[in-house]
Amino acid sequence: MCKTHVLSAATAKAPFEKTTIERRELRPDDILIAIKFSGICHSDIHSAYDEWGGGIFPMVPGHEIAGVVEAVGSAVTKFAIGNRVGVGCFVDSCGECEYCLKGEEQYCTRGVINTYNSLDYDGKPTYGGYSQRIVVRESFVVRIPDSLDLDVASPLLCAGITTYSPLKHWNAGPGKKVAILGMGGLGHLAIQYAHAMGAEVTVLSRSPNKEEEARRFGADHYFATSDPEMFSKLANRFDLILNTVSATLDVDAYLSLLRIDGTLVNVGAPPEPSQFQVFSLIMGRRSLAGSLVGGIRETQEMLDFSAEHGIVPQIEVIRADQLGEAYERVLRSDVRYRFVIDISTL
Ligand code: NAP
Ligand code: ZN
Repeated sequence: MCKTHVLSAATAKAPFEKTTIERRELRPDDILIAIKFSGICHSDIHSAYDEWGGGIFPMVPGHEIAGVVEAVGSAVTKFAIGNRVGVGCFVDSCGECEYCLKGEEQYCTRGVINTYNSLDYDGKPTYGGYSQRIVVRESFVVRIPDSLDLDVASPLLCAGITTYSPLKHWNAGPGKKVAILGMGGLGHLAIQYAHAMGAEVTVLSRSPNKEEEARRFGADHYFATSDPEMFSKLANRFDLILNTVSATLDVDAYLSLLRIDGTLVNVGAPPEPSQFQVFSLIMGRRSLAGSLVGGIRETQEMLDFSAEHGIVPQIEVIRADQLGEAYERVLRSDVRYRFVIDISTL
């Protein structure tokens, strides 16, 4: 067993406190990772505030983990001590179902084991990346390309794959008009991926304030959703809208921006239910869809694609004692565009 310092919330919305937990003894196929940087995803806040329900406390969030291999189990073949590695949103799956065999472990029919706020197959709670060390099966660890620094690599492990995967699945590319709705942690990476894939990219953000940065990330067009004329200006325009917003929206209004056969894909995960008129789909043979992170193979592909295209998040590195303040700022959308905890300050 290995003792490690963590930032832990005792109950929903409780302030984070520095404490220690035990990581399991290395199994033959396990890796011990010394975590260097851990990104702060809005999902961490939904979870730590128990907005989705079913929260397991005490909770140690964090599923954007970048670090260095410190020890390996006796049967590990893919990694060696000193390798730069990442861990994303899940740390185990059955390995046998249709989806695991396809490399889409996130949809495992036995139930994927999330990096935190999950009960592992042995019944013990999982604890995430706001931590100095973590133990993970090697098949759930990815390699971070040399050209990516570990601080900017960490948000790719969730925000990166969550936007890369649906953009690829719904064929964002040359000739396609793609809208990125919401320009936060996920959104600002989605712009870069959609642009690199060759799509014509439009950003829909609440205010005009982010336009200059959106264009720098590769946006061709930018509209403020606060402009009451935006919906008429952009009616029937997009093949694909990727909704990264953390709150519920007027679904019918956004469906009206899709062309015939267009798709509105939700990755933003607000706790409240959404409503829409089926006519918004029927009248344009439109689709309403969702997508959950991405599998391990695709996560490695996304990291390699990011390295090749020079895609990195714009981050603000914080100390461990700034976590509470960082959560408040994410909730106020006062982050450009991802907070990353420097774990050496823990
Ligand atoms: P974030 O950094 O807070 O970004 C969310 C963005 O949504 C904000 O920057 C803002 O963009 C917009 N927004 C926030 N509140 C809004 C409101 N009331 N009305 C309209 N727009 C609003 O969050 P994130 O880390 O990118 O995560 C976004 C969502 O994705 C969260 O719900 C998270 O849980 C979810 N998520 C899902 C998956 C998945 O697998 N599906 C994975 C990771 C995260 P503008 O300022 O540009 O308007
Ligand atoms: Zn996340």
